[in-house]
Amino acid sequence: MFAELLLGAAQLGLRTDDPYRPRPSMAGPERCERQMVYRARGVEELAISSRLAVIFKDGVAHEQITLDILKTTLFDIHSEQLPINLHGVLDWLEGQPPYPCAVCFAAQGRPVLIPATTLHGHIDALARDLFTIDRLIEHKGFVSHIFKRLWDQEKEPLDNFTQSVLYFRGLKEQGLLVDEGALLIKNKDTGAYLEFELRYDYDQDILHVPVMTRSPHEREEINRSHQGLFRATIEKFRRVHLHRVNETLPERLHDPKDVRCEYCPFQDICWEGFVLPPLTEHVSLPSELIPVAHEYIQLDRELKPKNKRYDELKDTLTAAMQDLHAETAATDTDVLKLVSSTQERLDQKALPVSLKKVYSKSIPIVKLQHASRFPEAGQVPQKRTPRLPSRPHESAA
Ligand code: SF4
Repeated sequence: MFAELLLGAAQLGLRTDDPYRPRPSMAGPERCERQMVYRARGVEELAISSRLAVIFKDGVAHEQITLDILKTTLFDIHSEQLPINLHGVLDWLEGQPPYPCAVCFAAQGRPVLIPATTLHGHIDALARDLFTIDRLIEHKGFVSHIFKRLWDQEKEPLDNFTQSVLYFRGLKEQGLLVDEGALLIKNKDTGAYLEFELRYDYDQDILHVPVMTRSPHEREEINRSHQGLFRATIEKFRRVHLHRVNETLPERLHDPKDVRCEYCPFQDICWEGFVLPPLTEHVSLPSELIPVAHEYIQLDRELKPKNKRYDELKDTLTAAMQDLHAETAATDTDVLKLVSSTQERLDQKALPVSLKKVYSKSIPIVKLQHASRFPEAGQVPQKRTPRLPSRPHESAA
């Protein structure tokens, strides 16, 4: 009764037709540059899906809940949505007209015009402690699988760090002495928090991330530094502008299954007609990958015969127990158990050939193989593949 109504209503008031402009929430080394260019060139985006609209509203609510909880502590939470301005950094937009900011209009009740060369945004909030020191709070909400990668340090939130850097710079240029803060990440599924403490050196453009805290009790010194996030961001916005003017596109991301592509509103046009170029290059593996390759080859050599033997043993025991009509069978130490279940599968033989042809498509498959570069005397040379006729030694995909 309510589900469809909710999804439909969630889209009301959310717009995808705001013209592109450089903004802190678009900054960062991981943001797909091609997607930014599509936006800058005004390519029509898929409308925000109703579920995405709900996710967006969830994000706003999660941030508000976090700030509301912090307001019950000894911190004084203030300056929510405070505007920041980095004047003159978008120098290539010199001469362009200013534009109105909807967020400032809502907050101030009067039109606020932003110069075209200003990078303009809004911080989440500042937190003032009992010693009247203000710290920046940047809040994000992530679903569990992304949150876990950050938690396990498999990934760094570089775009979120960059956004914070722009806010630190904006606060400094406004005369506010705020060079510490936190990127606070909430797991939207479990309520767990992950916090990266931040310190920013304005003159050197270096962001230090000394400590990471996994709520409630785990605090870890990670001591990472990121230099030049601000400068790299401005250069990226500049490149996007050049692509827009020259009507060109930067490269796609390497993998169409990249999560950024899965959620990209330009996915269809971006990958339409794309054909993966054939792998023909022979390269020397980069030195940092050589130990990885050695370990892979070693494991492959060890596991292959074991896997074969494992399958043989399993088949023999399964057949023997079936012959004995035994569901379980005991050894002196363990119990073997046959677990029966059913699976629905298409009976390929029952399908007419014409149907199979219509509904079949070839799917590219990439396999990693290896062979010795130095075959021993008397060893039969490896069969040459048509694609790599002169390089029988190559690890081919
Ligand atoms: S589909 Fe992927 S590569 Fe293409 S613009 Fe979107 S994020 Fe970038």
